Amino acid sequence: MTHLRFPVMVHGFFDMGDFSQGAQAAVDQCTHALRVALDRTAAQAVQLGRRGGSDLDLTLTPEEEQFRTELRAWLEKNHPGPEPEGAEESFQFRRAWQRRMQQDRYAGLTWPEEYGGRGATLMQSAIFNEEMVRAKVPSAANVLGLVMGGPVVIAHGTDEQKRRFLEPILSADEIWCQGFSEPDAGSDLASLKTRATKVDGGWKISGQKVWTSFAHNAKWCMLLARTDPEAKKHEGITYFLMDMDQKGVEARPLRQLTGESEFNEVFIDDAFVPDENVVGKPGQGWMVAITTLALERAGLSLGSAVAIKIQLRELAEMIRELGKDRDPAVRQKFGELCVKAETMRLNGARGLSQVIQHGVPGPEGSLVKIQWAEINQAMTEFAVGVRGVEGLLTDTPWSYRLLRARANSIEGGTSEIQKNILAERVLMLPRLR
Ligand SMILES: Cc1cc2nc3c(=O)[nH]c(=O)nc-3n(C[C@H](O)[C@H](O)[C@H](O)COP(=O)(O)OP(=O)(O)OC[C@H]3O[C@@H](n4cnc5c(N)ncnc54)[C@H](O)[C@@H]3O)c2cc1C
Repeated sequence: MTHLRFPVMVHGFFDMGDFSQGAQAAVDQCTHALRVALDRTAAQAVQLGRRGGSDLDLTLTPEEEQFRTELRAWLEKNHPGPEPEGAEESFQFRRAWQRRMQQDRYAGLTWPEEYGGRGATLMQSAIFNEEMVRAKVPSAANVLGLVMGGPVVIAHGTDEQKRRFLEPILSADEIWCQGFSEPDAGSDLASLKTRATKVDGGWKISGQKVWTSFAHNAKWCMLLARTDPEAKKHEGITYFLMDMDQKGVEARPLRQLTGESEFNEVFIDDAFVPDENVVGKPGQGWMVAITTLALERAGLSLGSAVAIKIQLRELAEMIRELGKDRDPAVRQKFGELCVKAETMRLNGARGLSQVIQHGVPGPEGSLVKIQWAEINQAMTEFAVGVRGVEGLLTDTPWSYRLLRARANSIEGGTSEIQKNILAERVLMLPRLR
């Protein structure tokens, strides 16, 4: 019989002490109902022949438990300490942290061993992300290279590209960015207008990209450009690895709501990319782009349930300190957030089971992306609101998180686009156009 079990991180998930007893009961009830529902769904899916009938059990094996124990000990010994203030200081700090991780092959955990990774399983990768969030270590400096660039080169690149690009990604010697979005091509990415024209030995590229995260620090850009204007929209697109360090490429930082400049406009004027830096075949870049986007979404989901859980604990602490832990309205809202966070975690586990069984993330991953954005935005609004007027005036971590969370329903594909994916590919509703 097929069964789903989700013991990972269940223990202590809502360990909020006395304050959250009411919420705890609601969570327990909801968790139980969800487990029953998920078991039933899985059983039905197998009857329908969609899940292939194989047993699935997410209970950690002794080897996985051992992996967690070793990782925790490693993190305790190697924790880099608090991240410094200031964009450049923080970047250099995270670069040094990534190098430390690389030394013990934690930087490219899921990459095959022959490319400097550990060839970790998906379950180990899930454990890794939980432990990183739990230990509150900073993110790696070259996050887009690790999560998207490297895996894309491994999947679609030539041997020469693997030799040239992979090691400096792991060591953070060369930072990567993703040049997909343009002023008139975001959700509808395939309408991009950046043009690449064939010249001797390579391509000349001109156009504009926008929202390009980390472009100001990047050496390489995963760039989509149109190489055949006559072909159908999704066809004449090519995937380039563009050297950012050349005349003709200018990254202009954009200031965000939070005051940071995490992303940029990138102006490209007759930049050159040699033939050997095309990934896949010319005109077949869309498939490579789809791989990149699937990796991006999976990367956003991993660890996000744990991050929310940790912030809920901090929130419970703050509510107690403010003496609002007996306020029924506060308790109700807090309980509601806990329940939603638990449904998100269970949906994440369901997504993981999908990948374990089928090898690729399913469209269901869009649900976790929507939930993450909604919960994070609701939680940060609530946390700032609970402080009253002071919440808006004080520069607390919560006021920063409130502002940063606005991007969650846009980055990595907007919530509306995720809903379209769910409607068309999970619920099988007719396409709008
Ligand atoms: C913090 C952050 C970091 C980012 N980093 C990068 C990066 O590194 N590289 C990169 O290439 N991009 C990056 N982006 C861009 C991001 O991928 C786009 O912003 C996103 O895909 C939306 O595109 P858009 O901004 O052009 O909005 P549009 O596509 O113009 O959408 C505008 C509005 O219309 C809605 N909409 C559009 N089409 C539909 C539809 N068919 N059905 C229903 N509603 C629709 C959208 O949901 C949205 O509300 C980043 C964005 C953010 C916020």
